[in-house]
Amino acid sequence: MMELSEELIFGLIDAAKKAREMAYAPYSGFRVGACIVADSGNKYTGCNVENASYGACVCAERTALFNAVCSGERSFAALLVISDSEDITFPCGICRQTLLEFISSDMPIICCDKNGAFSIFTMKELMPHSFTKENMK
Ligand SMILES: [Zn+2]
Repeated sequence: MMELSEELIFGLIDAAKKAREMAYAPYSGFRVGACIVADSGNKYTGCNVENASYGACVCAERTALFNAVCSGERSFAALLVISDSEDITFPCGICRQTLLEFISSDMPIICCDKNGAFSIFTMKELMPHSFTKENMK
C-alpha cells in the first residue's frame, strides 16, 4: 500500500482545489473537486458536472475515477475530495458504490473541508456490508 505522506496529501489537496475551480454547478452552487491516485502513482482529477436534468448530474469523485479508468488505470491507492463546505465533505452513496468496483475496502478516502483540513477514512468505514463484485461469484 502506498504511504500517505503529508507531501502526497498536500499535493492531492492542491490538485483537487484546481479541479474544484472547474466544477459545473449552476444549479446547486456546490462545487466539488476530487483527486484519485492510481497504484501507478499517476493522479487524476475530477469535478462535479451538473445538468438541467438533475438525474444526469455526476459527482467529482466519479469523474476523477472515470478519468483514470479511461487512461487504463484499474487499481488505486487513495482518493481525496474537497468542496466549498465549512464541514468535511464525504463521497455520496453512488460514488462509494462506484469506487468499490475498483478499490479495496481498506483504501483511504481523504475528506476535506473547503480549506483542506482533512480526516481520513477507509472505504470499509464509509460503506460497511457493501455489495461488490465479490458477491457476484
Ligand atoms: Zn457522489
